[in-house]
Amino acid sequence: TRRIVHIEKALALIGAGSLKERLPPLGSDEIGRLGADVNAMADKLTELEQLKKTFVTSVTHELRSPLGVIEGYVSQLLMRSTGLSAEDRAALDRILRNTRRLGHFVTNLLDLAKIERGKLDFTPLRADPSELVENTVRFFAPKAQESRMTLISEIEPGLPLVHFDPDLIAHVLTNLISNALKFTRPGGRITVSLKSSGKNLELSVADTGVGIKSEDLPRIFAPFQRVANPLKATGVGLGLAISREIAAMHKGELGVTSEAGKGSRFCLTLPLDA
Ligand code: ADP
Repeated sequence: TRRIVHIEKALALIGAGSLKERLPPLGSDEIGRLGADVNAMADKLTELEQLKKTFVTSVTHELRSPLGVIEGYVSQLLMRSTGLSAEDRAALDRILRNTRRLGHFVTNLLDLAKIERGKLDFTPLRADPSELVENTVRFFAPKAQESRMTLISEIEPGLPLVHFDPDLIAHVLTNLISNALKFTRPGGRITVSLKSSGKNLELSVADTGVGIKSEDLPRIFAPFQRVANPLKATGVGLGLAISREIAAMHKGELGVTSEAGKGSRFCLTLPLDA
């Protein structure tokens, strides 16, 4: 039964998504043929996975330019101060908002595809993490105020320059703060803190929002995974998947602690001496 156990293990790995798994030749009897069939199945699955990736990339790529054109023209129409009724203006406004949402989705899909192919631009340089946090928090201040939320930053003084890609880390922080705003009720509080902890730099975003049940925590970092939330906030579930990949590119980690009904704390850890 040794060969059967071998096949069983390979099937379990392939079933869990390890499509590179293959069996060595196991002979020419029925069991040997079964092993060869498992390999053929894994080859086909790999091919389909590749096809899916190429399809997603080309479709999203093709969507990008027409979306840009729509957004450009609608913005132009809205900028005209005369000749538009309030109703037309509201309709155009809606078109613009939805076009932007779709554009955002397409960009996220393309980013994820690029990460999977190892093609996302990654240009780490020595940069000031405090400045990045200050700028990003400042950017969100009007939005927080509009949603009647307190957004504060706590930055440890005298932090050193760190090796990271400022655009990508800003992308992660933007995503975490947007989520905190999205999943917190008016009157809530969002704290962005930056500090050193041993050999690491810790950047965290804590909110007093709806929180996440412990059984849902493991899956929120996977692509397209969302949890039903009492605020009915919308999204597609790609932000955290991309953010976690960006953390890994930096040899860092993105984790979360959360309590349903109380709030969440997402923490990005980056090595200080990388
Ligand atoms: P999206 O925000 O588009 O749904 P994300 O990948 O950013 O996608 O987040 C995935 C899911 O994780 C969200 O749908 C939500 O259920 C949960 N989540 C993320 N951030 C928070 C937060 N700050 N508070 C509560 N839930 C959150």
